[in-house]
Amino acid sequence: MARKEKIVEQVQNVEEIVAEEAVVAQEFDEIVEDLVEVPKAPREGIQIGIDLGTANTLVYVSGRGIVFNEASVVAYDLESGETFAVGNEAARMLGRTHDKIQVSKPLHLGVISDIKAAKALIEWVLSGLDPDTYDVKESTLLICCPSEVTMVERESLINLAHDLGIEDAFIEEEVKAGVIGSGIDIFTPQGNLFIDIGGGSTDVGVLSLGDIVVSESIRVAGSRMDELIQKHVQHEHGLLIGEKTAEKIKQEIGTVNERLDPADEKMIFVAGRDNTSGLPREIEVSQEEIRDVLVEPFEEIVKVTMRVLEQTPPELSADIIESGIYTCGGGSLVEGCQNFFAKRLGIQVQQSPSPLTAIAEGTKVLLKNRGNYLVKPMD
Ligand code: ADP
Ligand code: MG
Repeated sequence: MARKEKIVEQVQNVEEIVAEEAVVAQEFDEIVEDLVEVPKAPREGIQIGIDLGTANTLVYVSGRGIVFNEASVVAYDLESGETFAVGNEAARMLGRTHDKIQVSKPLHLGVISDIKAAKALIEWVLSGLDPDTYDVKESTLLICCPSEVTMVERESLINLAHDLGIEDAFIEEEVKAGVIGSGIDIFTPQGNLFIDIGGGSTDVGVLSLGDIVVSESIRVAGSRMDELIQKHVQHEHGLLIGEKTAEKIKQEIGTVNERLDPADEKMIFVAGRDNTSGLPREIEVSQEEIRDVLVEPFEEIVKVTMRVLEQTPPELSADIIESGIYTCGGGSLVEGCQNFFAKRLGIQVQQSPSPLTAIAEGTKVLLKNRGNYLVKPMD
């Protein structure tokens, strides 16, 4: 028995010694750590590309891909000026706030209408990038905006980047980024025509040798289509419907197909407020009537495209006949859009493989070949 106790005692002693040694080792490590400053891994700059659209903002970050893809809306407290919601969350507050909150869109009809909101939006997105993981000073920021955005507005966006600590900032035209992001090689002398139907504006551009040769922008795009649908429902059905409801009609049954098969025709139930009684009411809207509404804005887009084609140098016109027209943007998702343009313009029309993300994807390439459009960037 005595022998067993002795063994137990010895084991305990050993355990104590081991524990003591562990404490000493840890203390030693701490002392060494204090004495020798362990250099942290150097942080590198990142490349950030922003597609600042009237309806949606997308953010691409090198090594991470598209990190933000939400509505271009900001909600801030009017008293403190503090931003408290951005993107889809802020969009849900549109039309539902009280007088202490302002819900704002940075762009309206393709021009910057609220630079403060633009700043808040970009600031918010950048703050979500975990600033500890990269060096802001070594980073590059590219903001793509509609071609109508003025030099003064472009400068204020650059200043905004500087305020955020990013020295290397530049602005590009959305159309250019959109073409590149659609996988079209614009770094050749071959001309390409591109139609971007967004929320507030439609931008049409001819590109060759890495830059825009001719371009035009009109304020006829997704929002205008919604407005026309609202008007139509009010006149034809005596019902007032909201913007969101009109947008839903467009997205769900919108078409510009000339012939609609009656057997396949889609219908949609929508609710609103009766024009005369003021009471809520529900009606059924047909695809055919919406088609007749949407044809008008699409004819406008055809007209602006014709104007661009008229100004295009003949050599490039010849190229466009061969390579065709590319479309992108949310508005190009209206059923029958490509056929509609092809028929009116007599040129083949293709949808971009990524109609909603092409601009953000294009920033990846533009960030790589910063400043030199004649050099094709290497992957
Ligand atoms: P922006 O570049 O101006 O932010 P987007 O290219 O993101 O605009 O397109 C937004 C517009 O596209 C909105 O008006 C939206 O209603 C419309 N849209 C999105 N999806 C569809 C769809 N499936 N059918 C028709 N319109 C659509
Ligand atoms: Mg866009």
